[in-house]
Amino acid sequence: MTEHVGAGQALPRLVAPARPKNISVLTEDVLSAVAQAVADLGAPSKADLVRHTGLPRSTVSSHVDWLLNRNVLVRVEGEKRIARGRPAEAVALNGHAGWVLAVEMGALKTTAAVVDLAGEVLARRQIELPVSQDPDSYLGSLTDLLHELTEEAAVTAGRAVPPANWVAAMALPARIDTETRTPLRPTIMPTWDGYPVGAAVEERLGCPALLENDCSVRALGEAGFLGPEYLPLISVQIGTGVGAGIVDSSGLIIRGANGAAGDVGHIPYSRGGDALCSCGSRGCVEAVASVPAMLAKIEAAGVTCSDPTLRGSDLLLRLLLEGDPAVTQAIDESAEAIGEVVASLCNVINPRRVVITSALASVGHELLAGVRSAVYSRARPLATKDLVIDYSRLGADVGIAGGYLMGREHLLQPSSIKALRVADPVTG
Ligand SMILES: [Zn+2]
Repeated sequence: MTEHVGAGQALPRLVAPARPKNISVLTEDVLSAVAQAVADLGAPSKADLVRHTGLPRSTVSSHVDWLLNRNVLVRVEGEKRIARGRPAEAVALNGHAGWVLAVEMGALKTTAAVVDLAGEVLARRQIELPVSQDPDSYLGSLTDLLHELTEEAAVTAGRAVPPANWVAAMALPARIDTETRTPLRPTIMPTWDGYPVGAAVEERLGCPALLENDCSVRALGEAGFLGPEYLPLISVQIGTGVGAGIVDSSGLIIRGANGAAGDVGHIPYSRGGDALCSCGSRGCVEAVASVPAMLAKIEAAGVTCSDPTLRGSDLLLRLLLEGDPAVTQAIDESAEAIGEVVASLCNVINPRRVVITSALASVGHELLAGVRSAVYSRARPLATKDLVIDYSRLGADVGIAGGYLMGREHLLQPSSIKALRVADPVTG
């Protein structure tokens, strides 16, 4: 008998005396993936989630249960029927778990909404708030508006959500440095150049603030509504400025190296002549195709509006309804310029969908028809083979929808999912 285990011999089987009693295999990554799958699917059963995520059933089950225990998910009646016609049990996001404060900043007007985590709009308002003023006073007015809206939202929802579970998602008419969350040389809001908007909003609201270019937000909203089979998608905005947002085939926003991707308004237009642009150059697409450019042409033709108080898109819409041929001519010229730049974009990106967002969408297909014909006559046939060019299907909601999607992804991401909790299960 040896006194000790020597070389070539094994120690006896040893059982470690200290073992955690409840092994937690819950990871933030999986919680996030499960919650995001619930968000995408609406009201899935556990079987739907297993199919959608490719995760083992036991993993889905434990993570769904954890989210149910914290009331981030709630049980709902599923759409499918199981044995004896009983509805299958399904889960959905609990709206009370978080709020997205979605903000769409236009040149003249700002739209803001409080949307709960489940996608219900609890409060919404559009106010006259020009971005041409200095950022401090603008953000002061915006913060007041958002505080009013969160109070309204608490009434609509029957309960409040603490600021710790809010996220502000802001769409700015500017190119954005998403790292520092500052606008970059914005032509229609020059005093905002380099202003730390993200940090300023966070300080005022006490919640994270996400900043994104408005055209990118609209592209994201439309892509989220249509689904991945419509990607790549390009959203082109014709408003005070002209710009584009691009969502690639994997669903990501293309920002480029410095946030300047999609700045199509300042591409030279072949028939732009010496029209002066807001960027200081001449002959840009925006100098011919934007709403102010169209209005300038109409004014130069001697056409006036019966309502002198109207401005911007509201004025253009009224002029169109009043029916002077100079108005349709200005719109046709705008469509031709937009069509030229969209044709080039199609040759470069080969999108499946081009979405035109414009106030003119509400009054017929004048603009759209012009853009379509210019694109099909200029782009390569292969680049337009499966292309659909249309107005936004979400219309006036597209910016708020994109903001909600950004905010929801933020609240459900691995680094913030565990902070979500609803203290009691009352779901309103
Ligand atoms: Zn320009």
